[in-house]
Amino acid sequence: MKEIAVRTTSHTQFVNIDARVEDAIAAMGIRDGLCHVFVPHTTAGITINENADPDVVADMIQALERAVPWQAHYAHAEGNAAAHVKASMMGFSQTVPIRGGKLAFGTWQSLYFCEFDGPRTRKVWVQCVPA
Ligand code: ZN
Repeated sequence: MKEIAVRTTSHTQFVNIDARVEDAIAAMGIRDGLCHVFVPHTTAGITINENADPDVVADMIQALERAVPWQAHYAHAEGNAAAHVKASMMGFSQTVPIRGGKLAFGTWQSLYFCEFDGPRTRKVWVQCVPA
C-alpha cells in the first residue's frame, strides 16, 4: 500500500489526485489491474467527476453546501456535522481500472479528494491488484 499526503488549502475543496495516484501505481509496478483508493477520514471523501470544466467542481461544492448547510442546528458538539454528512455523501473509496499503468477513466473523468473541513494535511491510501 502507498500513502499519499494531500495538503488542502481551503475549508471546502476538491483536489484532483490523478497524477499522485498514478505515481503510486507506477511505484507498485502495476500495468493492468484494479486500483483501490481509500480516504481514512470522517470529514473528507473521494469522488470521480469532470475534469474539463472547473465550473463542474464549483457547482458540486455549491450544491452540497445548499443540501447540507454548515449551520443547521446539528447535535454534534464539535461543530462540523455538515462536513461529516458531506463526506458520507461522497463516500470514502473508489475503485478504478488500471490500463497500461494509468487510471482507465472515461474521457472527462478524474479522481477528486473532497475536503469538507480544511485546511488540513490528509491521507489517501492506494492499494492495487494486478489483473
Ligand atoms: Zn466532528
